[in-house]
Amino acid sequence: MEPFVHKDQSLLSIESWEERFPDLTAGMTTKLDGVSHEPYASLNMGFHVNDNANDVCANRERVAAKLKLPLQQWVGAEQIHNTSIKKVSKSDRGKGANNYSDSFQGTDGFYTNEEGILLTLCYADCVPLFFHAPEKKMIGAAHAGWKGTVAQIAKEMIQLWELEGIQAKDIHVAIGPSICEKCYIVDNHVVNLIENILEDVDRKPYNLISAGQYSLDLRLLNKQLLIKAGVPEKQIIVSNLCTSCEQELFFSYRRDQGKTGRMLSYIGWKEKSFVEEGSR
Ligand SMILES: [Zn+2]
Repeated sequence: MEPFVHKDQSLLSIESWEERFPDLTAGMTTKLDGVSHEPYASLNMGFHVNDNANDVCANRERVAAKLKLPLQQWVGAEQIHNTSIKKVSKSDRGKGANNYSDSFQGTDGFYTNEEGILLTLCYADCVPLFFHAPEKKMIGAAHAGWKGTVAQIAKEMIQLWELEGIQAKDIHVAIGPSICEKCYIVDNHVVNLIENILEDVDRKPYNLISAGQYSLDLRLLNKQLLIKAGVPEKQIIVSNLCTSCEQELFFSYRRDQGKTGRMLSYIGWKEKSFVEEGSR
């Protein structure tokens, strides 16, 4: 069963997590129901792709309203396909939310255990990773294209959380909509890098399709690296949705030949309302 379920046409949420934790908001946007024009039509969430910034802000305001988490509570990043992950707190809120210039520089992952912060990252084919350790209320997000994946950003998050007193066996991970094996062709260089970090797997995440050309299942590779880092397989859920195959639903960097919009992954705890606090 697909773990990312339509909340409406522009939001896919991680249903099993949200059902179990009603204060948790986690999922990914589609490309539908926004105001941007081609080639960013229509719900482009990325500031860095040369779309009109006012349109991107309008799209973000729409999503913020639907999620009931205002832009002032978002954090965003200048993503560089690296493994730098930042722990954020309430004082960071709003950075990278309504413009690109004050986003976290050179950052491809976030985590926090504070309420009222929405961790956001942008995608068009790369793999969105969502992390959750229920007992410590820790949540995280990471952007894993092939570079971040082979540089092991997934393992980096697990190691940072271990420093916070969280064991890998207590971490749950969701792997979001991203490019599928059929649509993702890589060369020897990438496969050699994968070989360096992945031994002892029953099933290789890639297949040779012609001389020096491989199809790569980047979602499976991330899952295998998470298992290797100690996350129990039963706690990893994987989307089957492909950003390139599902042309009506998603932007795809490869399919759209580089000129396209970005979807947004999001995860955050809703702030307990003042009403609740005041009524004690
Ligand atoms: Zn595909």
